[in-house]
Amino acid sequence: MAAFRFVLVAPSHAGNIGSVVRAMMTMGLDDLVVVKPKEADFANHPQARALASGARELLARARRAASLQEAVADCQLVVAVSANPREFGPSPRTPAEIAGLALQELHQGSVQKVALVFGTERTGLSIHEMALCQQMVSIPADPDYSSLNLSQAAQIIAFSLRQQVMLSQAQPGVPSAAAGVEGEAAARETYADHAAIERLHTHVEQALVAIGYLDPAEPKRLMPRLRRLCARTRLEVSEVDLLRGICKQMEKLAASAAAGAAGAAGAAGASGAPVTPVTPVTPGCPVAGSDV
Ligand code: SAH
Repeated sequence: MAAFRFVLVAPSHAGNIGSVVRAMMTMGLDDLVVVKPKEADFANHPQARALASGARELLARARRAASLQEAVADCQLVVAVSANPREFGPSPRTPAEIAGLALQELHQGSVQKVALVFGTERTGLSIHEMALCQQMVSIPADPDYSSLNLSQAAQIIAFSLRQQVMLSQAQPGVPSAAAGVEGEAAARETYADHAAIERLHTHVEQALVAIGYLDPAEPKRLMPRLRRLCARTRLEVSEVDLLRGICKQMEKLAASAAAGAAGAAGAAGASGAPVTPVTPVTPGCPVAGSDV
């Protein structure tokens, strides 16, 4: 169970944090990160302590993070816990499906840490927060009123994870979280963690601006759509390296094309001849107009 982390985004009631901690501890979970809690000193809040009950020690150990990105930086699988699918978010799975998927990936060794991300009480996870997640889990409640209390949702998710771990331990040959964490022979390469994916997005954005495909003044929905594409693909470490190599080359070619254009403009300015527009470059080919 050590492979699972619960992340609470901006909880407004300290009491809920206490209840979540209790829900986690009863299911054998002990990694909680709280992002921008309304009550900064939640661990000493009387309601949080009362509702944590016997889990106060875990409450005291809960970590705080300044952003969701920071809270999941070292996670290779980030799961949004939400009742409401969002346009650019992943499509919902049941708790059992997510638990099965997470255990399988842990067992394969392609994932070492899984984050389950819960939204704030009043509004849940925003579109932006959801877009940072690769999977989404929804508790299939009554569609007419599907919004559970935060800690009740946490209890159900925690139980589903535990149940799946117990099932896998009872059936030899079925993946178990513990096996994955202890590093059984890795069947495949590790998925990139969240921090590496964020660095890739930043690099892609810069490269797209450099080649003139993305207008920073009017970015539209290009980056959210590319984020979603990446999240669906589940990039491996070497694939992130490959894409960053491509971005680097794009930036390099754009810079030399720009330098060429500036040179031509200078020459044209001196001679009075018209300036030739920069020809788009083909990756792997010499820069058009250069004499390489
Ligand atoms: N009005 C908010 C409710 C937030 S409840 C909304 O519509 O999203 C606080 C958190 O509890 C949610 O962000 C989510 O993480 C969790 N939660 C509540 N009900 C859930 C459900 N049916 N399935 C999955 N998560 C749920």
